[in-house]
Amino acid sequence: MRDNRRMPQPHAAAPWRPTRFVGGSAVLHAAALAGVAIGPELWPWALGAVAANQAAILAGGLLPRSRLLGPNWTRLPDAAAARGEVALSLDDGPDPLVTPRVLELLERRGAHATFFCIGERAGRHPDLVRAIAAAGHGVENHSLRHRHNFALLGPRRFLREIGAAQDVLAALAGAPPRFFRAPAGMRNPFLDYALTRLGLQLVSWTRRGYDTRNTDAEDVLARLTRGLGADNILLLHDGHAVRGAHGTPVVLDVLPRLLDALATAGLRPVTLRAALD
Ligand SMILES: [Zn+2]
Repeated sequence: MRDNRRMPQPHAAAPWRPTRFVGGSAVLHAAALAGVAIGPELWPWALGAVAANQAAILAGGLLPRSRLLGPNWTRLPDAAAARGEVALSLDDGPDPLVTPRVLELLERRGAHATFFCIGERAGRHPDLVRAIAAAGHGVENHSLRHRHNFALLGPRRFLREIGAAQDVLAALAGAPPRFFRAPAGMRNPFLDYALTRLGLQLVSWTRRGYDTRNTDAEDVLARLTRGLGADNILLLHDGHAVRGAHGTPVVLDVLPRLLDALATAGLRPVTLRAALD
């Protein structure tokens, strides 16, 4: 059952302020149109300027760690870094086979993580979402359906897709998500507007192991631990997890060794919410 009292209040969020780049892009488009209206012979210059700007917008949306299109966490705040904290994040779940085993591994080490859940999957496995939240882990928003064309949506469809996931996850976890991660990390300039309306902070990552396609646990671990330090946000997957040589999801081979590496380095895995405090 939905509890509407717990729903986020989109209109209560701070007003949207586009980044200088996005605001400047809008001005450039308007100026190009005005220029062509005044001097039609200027059209090749106007078209060139708009095309170059569109290419920059596209690059900003395709690079998951870019801040060109809006605020984007790729590391934890300074206070969390000073405490020696890192954040483990697990995307694309919950998954009935992998998620319970990930929860066991984390519990055994007293570690906390953040789960970026897909809303539809959460609705299919409500008990798993409740178990994640009950164990003190973060339940955050990874969109309703993890659509392949997510980065092509407009502002209204972003609000629907992310808002619906927000409703499902808030009702199951007992509190609305505060963070959002884009499917495959891809975006367009309207996403920042939708996230501001919904009161969500975009989070990408510092390092990722490519554990949805890399079957070599050794290599996944090396990618996550190379240059590892306080403030890192590490990306793994409990959903869409690739299987290794023996049929075991690679994430389950990697996670215990990653937790060992963190302990050896004196780093403490916390949820993104805890890193904010
Ligand atoms: Zn994903």
